[in-house]
Amino acid sequence: MKRLVRFALNHLSRPTVQRIAGVAIPFCGLFMRGHRVECPVCGRKFRKFFSYGYVEMRGGALCPHCMSLERHRLLYLWLERNTDLFTAPYRLLHIAPEHCFLRPFERLVGDKYVTADLESPLAKVKLDVQQMPFDDCEFDVVICNHILEHVDSDRKALEEIFRVMRCGGWGILLSPVDYGLESSYEDPTKTTPEERREAFGQPDHLRIFGRDYADRLRAAGFEVEEIRATDFLSAEEITRYGIATDRIHFVRKSQG
Ligand SMILES: [Zn+2]
Repeated sequence: MKRLVRFALNHLSRPTVQRIAGVAIPFCGLFMRGHRVECPVCGRKFRKFFSYGYVEMRGGALCPHCMSLERHRLLYLWLERNTDLFTAPYRLLHIAPEHCFLRPFERLVGDKYVTADLESPLAKVKLDVQQMPFDDCEFDVVICNHILEHVDSDRKALEEIFRVMRCGGWGILLSPVDYGLESSYEDPTKTTPEERREAFGQPDHLRIFGRDYADRLRAAGFEVEEIRATDFLSAEEITRYGIATDRIHFVRKSQG
């Protein structure tokens, strides 16, 4: 099983993997029913979450129904408990939309929910995050997860996200961060998939963010808050919802 997952992640395109997984995983999940763990995104309960991982397999990672990962469950719980996203009439831009969030966000946010991506068939608008076809201040909330490590210029992408967000608006900008690194590492001379895998851990990554990640968000103009699971969840909840050590980067654009 682990080998099969690794093969699929290495050899098939992301949309293909998502399509196959969207059918196969909920089917396998039928055999995982139980009460030990609970996915807050789809609301289902299981004996355990599936193992999953690109570089390293992680136990208890993947929801057997909606395919949420640890960071998705953490983010969903935080949005639900600490924001009014699901009750206020916000215009929400979701860049590179994750499969697990589509249904709940569409149900809770309604027709003010705009999904966007360069190639994902899940997205309504096709765009490059470094040059978006939206007006200034068009969105109240922007969610953009695990994209900034893929683009040519994270600085340009952040400037664009800042531009399309209204003053007083807020967002979530998650990226993988290596907290062992003081400064983010990038090297524009690494251009082939092999060189990038060697340098940055994945063939489609262009940098590894370090402890200066929040400062890079601040450089684009945002106010930044870094939130850990232990800031708002009990130890029992962290176990029950299958949450890891991910952190949420919450950004706000000041009223100006
Ligand atoms: Zn789920």
